[in-house]
Amino acid sequence: MKSPLLAFLVVLALTLTAPLHAATPATTAFVNVSVLPMDTERVLKNQTVVITGDRIVRLGDSGTTTIPADARKIDGTGKFLMPGLGEMHGHNPPLGSSPEYIRQIFFLFVANGVTTFRGMQGWPGQLELRDLVNSGAITGPTLYLAGPAFTGNGPAATRSPAAAEARVREQKAEGWDLLKVLPGLKRDVYDAMAKTADEVGIRFSGHVPADVGLVHAIERRQETVDHLDGTIEYLGAETAPVDAAKLAAMVKLLRDSGTLMVPTMPLWETIIGSADLAPMLAYPELRYMPRAEVERWKTGYERRLADPKFSAARARQIAANRKIVLKALADGGVTILFGTDAPQQFSVPGFSVVREMQANVAAGLTPYQVLQSATKNVGDYLKAKDTFGLVAPGHRADLLLLDANPLQAIGHIEQRAGVMLRGRWLPESELQAGLAQIAAAQAAPK
Ligand SMILES: [Zn+2]
Repeated sequence: MKSPLLAFLVVLALTLTAPLHAATPATTAFVNVSVLPMDTERVLKNQTVVITGDRIVRLGDSGTTTIPADARKIDGTGKFLMPGLGEMHGHNPPLGSSPEYIRQIFFLFVANGVTTFRGMQGWPGQLELRDLVNSGAITGPTLYLAGPAFTGNGPAATRSPAAAEARVREQKAEGWDLLKVLPGLKRDVYDAMAKTADEVGIRFSGHVPADVGLVHAIERRQETVDHLDGTIEYLGAETAPVDAAKLAAMVKLLRDSGTLMVPTMPLWETIIGSADLAPMLAYPELRYMPRAEVERWKTGYERRLADPKFSAARARQIAANRKIVLKALADGGVTILFGTDAPQQFSVPGFSVVREMQANVAAGLTPYQVLQSATKNVGDYLKAKDTFGLVAPGHRADLLLLDANPLQAIGHIEQRAGVMLRGRWLPESELQAGLAQIAAAQAAPK
């Protein structure tokens, strides 16, 4: 045992999930199902999809596709099978969180069809957590984790180029999947991070610090720009409408450089203060979060709006312009990666997915563009790590079975019949039972 946390988590994990694992057969077949492979916008009717272990091994017409005799069959009549979803800007719970809270957070994602998670809140010692989740000992999406952030603010700030270089080498050696950039980083420190990252072979993602700016971040090949950070600043569109020529130039820069964009639209409305508090306080999914946490979200939001420097008109202008930016990016050939920035500030793990998808559609994206950002684009982005993101042979068996076609209406993403996580089938009844348990635990007096 390398740490007390690990020991604790192992015990927790074994007691909670061992019986489920024992019951999982080697081969499962979805029969007579409509498949959204997500390589292009199409629906394949009357398909059989065979899964062995954690892989999709066969996909074909139900009339002609053979199924091993000992396979468990899942009737897909009237249902739609698509790849599981990626949360590309998630927050993994900090070290010191209770094992129960950690288990709850990852379960909430899975219960909403999230099967891949990029953790953008790195905490020391969490590589062990990644192993526990990815091995199935804790039920959770497959984790890819950024290391502890590079920030210019607070006690953990990376203040010098030399410190940045050392930190990159350390995180690469430890085995983190990527580096996370937070605001406040000075340009010379950012450049030292970028240069060392190129040398050792690791990528960096996240915010665009003000001292760096979008153009320089692109030049230094920041892999993903999260929250559309730096775009409104580039356009000078904080208090004015978006200039069409500047927008076209920015889209071209981002497309040509292959920079990936993570929108996190509803969360950003909370951050900038353009969201309405009352409807957020009425979100039914708040029952899955600790009461004290929701109270912090509420008071934090009220404090933001009470700040004398806060301007509601400015916040609304930025929110409106962000929608224009997102639509232009998606239609202009820039790759969008789906992310919701949960859990934090009314972004409840998993439940934030449908809100983000609705917001993307409200900005003018088609359901297919949104679903692709959460499936194919995620698999393409992480293709060096594993093969997943499509319903296709060889892909990791992360699947979402729905009662209605999400290409017709994005809200259908919530009409689940079940989730397959690395080949493990979780029917909706089991997911709902798990959700009810979490709600009951949060409602219990502490
Ligand atoms: Zn975040």
